[in-house]
Parts: sequence; C-alpha cells; structure tokens
Amino acid sequence: MSFKQLQVSRPIVQKLEAEGITDPTEVQEKSIPLIFEGKDVLVESETGSGKTFGFSIPVVQEVEGNDTQALILSPTRELAKQINEEIEKITAEEQETVVIYGGVSYKPQIEGAKKSNIVVGTPGRVLDLLEQGEIDLSSLEYFVLDEADRMMDMGFQDELEGILSFCPEERQNLLFGATIPRDLKRLCEKYSIDPEIIRIKRKKHTRNLDEKYLDIDGNKKLSALYTLLEDRDRDLSIVFCRTKNTTRWVAKKLRKNGVNAQALNGDMSQHKREEMMERFENGEVNVIVATDVAARGIHVDNVTHVFNYDVPDTPDTYTHRIGRAGRQGKEGEAVTLLENKQHSQFRQIKRKHKGKIKRMDKPNLKQIQM
Ligand code: ADP
Ligand code: MG
Repeated sequence: MSFKQLQVSRPIVQKLEAEGITDPTEVQEKSIPLIFEGKDVLVESETGSGKTFGFSIPVVQEVEGNDTQALILSPTRELAKQINEEIEKITAEEQETVVIYGGVSYKPQIEGAKKSNIVVGTPGRVLDLLEQGEIDLSSLEYFVLDEADRMMDMGFQDELEGILSFCPEERQNLLFGATIPRDLKRLCEKYSIDPEIIRIKRKKHTRNLDEKYLDIDGNKKLSALYTLLEDRDRDLSIVFCRTKNTTRWVAKKLRKNGVNAQALNGDMSQHKREEMMERFENGEVNVIVATDVAARGIHVDNVTHVFNYDVPDTPDTYTHRIGRAGRQGKEGEAVTLLENKQHSQFRQIKRKHKGKIKRMDKPNLKQIQM
C-alpha cells in the first residue's frame, strides 16, 4: 500500500518523500482512509508506530482558510511541539499552525490562533484561551486527542470536557493512544462519540530485563539504594515507594548526596507533575521517586532501571513497576530491596515470575550522608 493509494494528495506525498517517508505504517494504512471517509476513530497503537501522521495527513489535506478547523490536543508541551513539527513537514505554504501551551505569554499564541487553521495545544492553556474568547472554534471540523490515554492518566478529564463544550456538535473526533483506557470510553459515551476502533497489534520486542532482589537490613535500605544508583551506568531510573512521605524523604536524601532525584506523587498539582515529567523526559532529572499511583502518569522510553525501595503489594504491581524499564528492546534492570520480614510477601511474586528474579550479591555499601 502506498500513500497515493490511500488518496493522499500529490503535494503531501512529495513532501513526505523529501523527508524520506515513502510507505505508510500499519496504523497510517488503517486510519487515513477512515478519516477521509469522515468517520470518528479511536486508535490504539504503540509508541513509535507513526500515529502523528496517521491523523495529521488527512487533517492537513482537508483543512483550508484562516478559520480554526482542527484542534489537536496533547498532554504535554514537548509533545505538542513535536506534533506541530511533524505537521509543518507536510503543510502547504498558505497553511498556518500554532502551538498553545502554558507557562509562556499569551499574546503570540492569541495572534497565532487568529490566523491558524490548525491549533495544537495542551488542554489547560487551550481551555484558558477558549474561556477568554481568544480561540474561535465555530468552524471546527476535527477534534483530535493525541496520547488520549496519557491525557486521562494525567487527570485532564475536566479540561477536556470544558474544551468539548466549546466545540460544534458536527465535527469529526480522532482519538489516538498507546492503550484505550476505560475513562476514555466513558468520555466517548458521555459525548455520544461512537468511533470506529482500530487496534494495531503490538510488535514483539525482545525485552532484556534483568530482575534481581537484594537482601538488606531495613536501616541500610537508603545507602543500598544510593550504592545501586551510583554503581550503575543508568539513563533514567524510577524508584518505587509505598507512601508519599517515603517518596519525599528518599528523594531529599538522594539529592543531598548528589543524585539528581525528584519525588512524584499525587499531592502535586497537575502543572507541577507535568513539569516534572518533562524534566525527567529530557534528562534534567534522572531519578524519579514515585508511588504506584503517581507512576501511572509516567510514559517515558529511556528508563533503564527500576528500583523497588518498598516491596510491591502484589505480583501485578510488581509486573507493572518493572514494565517501566527496558522498553522497546533497550536493556534494563529491576532491583527489589528486600528486608528480612518481607521475604514471605515477596515469595508469591517470585513464584509467579518463575525463577526469573535472581538474588543479588550484596554490594559494598557506600556511605550516605543523612
Ligand atoms: P507515535 O505517535 O505512534 O509514537 P510518531 O508519529 O511520533 O509515532 O512517529 C515515530 C517516528 O516515525 C517519527 O520520527 C516519524 O517521523 C516516523 N514516521 C512516521 N510515519 C512514518 C512512515 N510512514 N515511514 C517512516 N517513518 C515514519
Ligand atoms: Mg505520538
């Protein structure tokens, strides 16, 4: 199948070719025709599969004029910028786009929105500008949610509903994500969106994850964690703790010893969490100390290490936690710190993971400043 066979216009095909993009990916093959037919779609396809062009090719081909005809929402500023960059590879000379996100001045965004037929943005600032009457969606044709799953994880439901109340009822809804969460299905029902569902099977990646546990005295856990962090050649790491208090305490102690760690927990504002995730994603912070709940919002690919500072409650939680490391063929390591009294709790997990979790030799513990 070629882009041409998918009814993609000649100018766009040529622009894609100039970028070295000659054949559609599977998700593009499935979604582009349905979008051209005017259908609402809900697309589940893994990261890296080419979802951005999956919605932006038909959108760019169809929108025209100066009215805002497409609104594309993304959970973070970085992603919004990335989507816009991808879109600008295929737009025509006369097509204007704008990226709208919080934390910067309003004026250029307001001016941009006035003349752009494609608006890309994060939910908070977009809603803000809608409420101020600075974005006019009366000609909207496409409502696009990218990383819809992540949007739900990050708690953007209210903003999304607010934005939807500004959208005309006659519009096409394009929802994309790596998974389809239940909250999103509920949102669809509430707004009578009945999309065609496209599910692209995950490609099998060989995951090289080394799973280990370390027997340790309760009062040596912190210096063990510090030692493990210091001894390893790491990219990004996630440290899991059972309580919010522990996340704060552990992060603080690690920072005091020169580790670039920050706590992530449910007490933090949406904005703070988002900011933290961006700093983590671009490596400014390389250790995130999180509770299981807060970690739901973490979708970062370069995580090489997971450390269970506290033992997970159930085998499922264990699987969830370690699944954050060594994604997409990258090497990874998951280490669980185990106090004596926790062995029975951990036995169940070990049994479920049939011999995959190996006991680790105790390293020479480094001194940690308290
Ligand atoms: P996703 O949103 O599914 O995670 P992206 O849309 O970000 O994936 O695409 C991942 C990468 O693949 C990008 O660098 C993009 O330019 C590239 N890409 C997209 N479509 C194609 C294609 N048809 N052929 C080759 N590369 C592509
Ligand atoms: Mg994407």
